[in-house]
Amino acid sequence: MKIRKMLNDPLVQEVLFNIFEGDEKGFELIEVLLKKGETTEEELAKELGIKLNYVRKLLYKLYDARLVDYKKWKNEDSNWFYYTWRPTFEKIPYVVKKRVKELITDLENKLKYEKNNMFFYCPKCNIRFTFEEATDLNFLCPGCGNMLEEFDNSKIIKDLEEQIKFLEHELKHNPILNQ
Ligand SMILES: [Zn+2]
Repeated sequence: MKIRKMLNDPLVQEVLFNIFEGDEKGFELIEVLLKKGETTEEELAKELGIKLNYVRKLLYKLYDARLVDYKKWKNEDSNWFYYTWRPTFEKIPYVVKKRVKELITDLENKLKYEKNNMFFYCPKCNIRFTFEEATDLNFLCPGCGNMLEEFDNSKIIKDLEEQIKFLEHELKHNPILNQ
């Protein structure tokens, strides 16, 4: 499958968004890497109109996810080192599959926590407590002193179940993950 087509897939975009921790600039970096192939940090900073440190921060996130690789070079005249970066977007299916599996595990843990606990909350301060915490507080809000009320988490449970179902469906049927 073509890299471009993979990058346009909503699930891949979601995973990239997650890799960049919500920083939209990351998508611009991907475009420049795609256009340039192998390039230097300086060139990327210039193209994106951002500082070198910022480029590096984004590159390290991609590197952690294994979607770029680098080479270290020595400038023989100045003895300085510089780096060139190369996209390895062909690893997208592998990276996305791994992330989706991790995400499912994470959501399943959250679901278990929601199902195994009973919650109380203060409607005024909008803070939630587990049953144990509420007991320790004698069911009084530490913020305002109001009586805590029972919290219905069925909506949270439903949301988590739906997210898990969606991701499991993607794992099985998304063409990128099933090449
Ligand atoms: Zn309160």
